[in-house]
Amino acid sequence: MKGQVWTKRLAGLLLGLVLFCGTSVVAAAPVASPPIRIGLMTQQFGILASSNGGFQVVNVDDGKILGEFTAGAKLRIGLREGKFVINNAIVNSDRMRIEPQKPKNIEREDRLLEINNRRYRGAVEIFRTQGAAGMTAVNVLPLDEYVYGVLGLSLTPEWPEQAVKAQAVVVRSFALYHSGKHKNEGFDLCDTGDCLVYEGQTQENPKIWQAIEATRGLALLYQNYPVAAYLHLSSGGYTENSESVFAKAYPYLRGVPDFDQTSPYFRWQKRITPQELEGLLKGAGYNFGALTAIEISRRTPPPMNVSDRGVSGRIRMITFIGKDGIAALTGEQIQKLLSLPSTLFDVTVAVPLSNIDSNITDSYGDRDTKQIQINLPPSASAGLLTDRPGIHRISGKPNELVFLEGFGWGHGVGFSQWGAKTMAEKAINPGSDYYMSILKHYFQGVRIDKWY
Ligand SMILES: [Zn+2]
Repeated sequence: MKGQVWTKRLAGLLLGLVLFCGTSVVAAAPVASPPIRIGLMTQQFGILASSNGGFQVVNVDDGKILGEFTAGAKLRIGLREGKFVINNAIVNSDRMRIEPQKPKNIEREDRLLEINNRRYRGAVEIFRTQGAAGMTAVNVLPLDEYVYGVLGLSLTPEWPEQAVKAQAVVVRSFALYHSGKHKNEGFDLCDTGDCLVYEGQTQENPKIWQAIEATRGLALLYQNYPVAAYLHLSSGGYTENSESVFAKAYPYLRGVPDFDQTSPYFRWQKRITPQELEGLLKGAGYNFGALTAIEISRRTPPPMNVSDRGVSGRIRMITFIGKDGIAALTGEQIQKLLSLPSTLFDVTVAVPLSNIDSNITDSYGDRDTKQIQINLPPSASAGLLTDRPGIHRISGKPNELVFLEGFGWGHGVGFSQWGAKTMAEKAINPGSDYYMSILKHYFQGVRIDKWY
């Protein structure tokens, strides 16, 4: 027994020496980014793990190696009577770490783990989900390598260098600010749109690596702390004040003009019958009798200053008026209910004169310059409603449709990816620091400085 303890200590000492030597070898390299823990899954009953090189399973609590495996070996990890099982053998551990076997020495070309058919840099920790059945898997890796993955999902190699650099700083700042958001679940950030979408080592390209290298350790700071650097695909012409979307007013997240007009996500449209709309609302528990009108202020060029829309025109509150009552929904609620790309949209209720598809589609989206051939619903038919601005009546005529003409994709707060792309493309002689100008446009009053 004593011998075993001694062996462990010796092993620990040797490991320490290896680590020490490793550290001294890479001492000349830039400062490594801090580690971050990304939740990949919770409440799982089966996890499949493998690697493109030799890898091992370590007990996190004492560092003991529980098993060593060669490239391509497949581990089926499950639970049996509360204990981990790997390929049917019970493992005595409460918390396991799967990691590539050799210490990393070549940046970006090290071994990858494959967890449920997705490849990941770094290590993956597995433990029982707290407060629920099943297992949780957490990817533990240097923050910058996490940024590779996030950027890889949203940028192609054609993206201009200064826009990639700007987005690298945004994602790094976002991760630093929100790190610990999922602390109670045992990780920093999740891998969904609740935090940032992350699918491991995927679609990375050299431009992304270079952008992260060129901006190494740089973060957006406000009062000497990383900022809540929210980002979205395309704002639809104007970004939004944070309090219209997230309830909290951040001084640096103010609505500003955007340059995303050429983005494929700039404009969208949706049509729905009043009956479908009523059905969806009632299905979600809103009861107001037969739908008679929709109330929302008309969108005007930003900055806007009305109570039911934010500064960019994003809907904060929309009211559905029925025969027996009303239902007031937030922009986010109606966006979710109708699966809309954004909360920035206008509402028109119309009965097409003739063929709906040819007539409305052709002129749709150019409502300000073209005449749409429609029968306007009679303004006095309902009797109970006033004709105050913002009321869109449902007449009940056959073929009546509710048109939503919308702009942008995402919440519209902070950094607009497509707006930044246009800024970088249109800049005349952009220097290597032009990304800082992009960042200072979308984040008011911030400082860009080294965080690590
Ligand atoms: Zn999250």
